Formats: sequence, C-alpha cells, structure tokens
Amino acid sequence: MNTRSAACACGAVSLTAEGEPLSVSMCHCLACQRRTGTTYSVHAYFPKERVSLHGTPKRYARAGDTGAMVDFHFCPDCGSTTHWEVEAMPGRIGIPVGIFADPGFPPPSVAIFVPHRHPWVVIPEGVPQNEGHSAAFKAAAEAAVAKRRGGAA
Ligand SMILES: [Zn+2]
Ligand SMILES: [Zn+2]
Repeated sequence: MNTRSAACACGAVSLTAEGEPLSVSMCHCLACQRRTGTTYSVHAYFPKERVSLHGTPKRYARAGDTGAMVDFHFCPDCGSTTHWEVEAMPGRIGIPVGIFADPGFPPPSVAIFVPHRHPWVVIPEGVPQNEGHSAAFKAAAEAAVAKRRGGAA
C-alpha cells in the first residue's frame, strides 16, 4: 500500500497516510481562503484508521456553514494546518495537500464553493463543480447537527 508522509513547515507535527485518498477537494470558500492565506484550499480526505499523527498540534474548532463543527489542528510552532475532522463525516481526516510537499499527489476530484472562486483561478478540466458542499455532505451535516442537539431537528 502506498504510504505518504506529510509535515508542517517546521517538522514538529507530521502525519502518514496509507493508501489512496477517498477524495481530493479544491475548495474556494472564504473560510478556506482565510485559513490558508491564499485563494483556495486543496485537501485530501483519508479514512481515520489509515492516518497516524506524530507531534502535538493545537486545535481550533469552528462551525461550518451547515452548522456542523470542523476541528482544525495546526502546528503551534509554525502555524501550518496539519489536518482536520468534520462532524458531518466522522471517521475521515482532512489533510491539506500542500503539506505532503509532493507535486505527484493525486489531483482534485471535485471543486466546491465555486461561486467564491477568484475569477483567474482555473479549475482543471473535467473536475465536477459544486456551488457549495455536495448534497450528500449537506444531508450528513444536518443529521450530525440534529443528533448533537438531541434529535430536535
Ligand atoms: Zn510546525
Ligand atoms: Zn473551504
């Protein structure tokens, strides 16, 4: 199985991921723009059991636009985002593709929040484009939020 290594800019926090990503998203949302400091995020999701973490990142949690929480982890020394977990999709870990520092990493499989795209950013040909999250993600997020609030949807 293919093992890929990822690390923050200073190397204090690193991850290894076994096998191929479940998906690779190119996200144009404004929250990703602020988090990355640039105009879009490209990140991969892996099954949690195929990811191992080394080091002690800090955590920053925020509600996504669906109300479901996203738990971001970042290096306390250099500030690189190392990974995150999404309440809507338990069992998956999101990892920014850049921290693999590997130009051979699989390309995006989907583009999301496309209306927030900077007009000069080019989405690779053939990549499906969504206005926001996919319908499946939205349904999962709504179910997760309802469950957290005690079933009162
Ligand atoms: Zn670091
Ligand atoms: Zn985003």
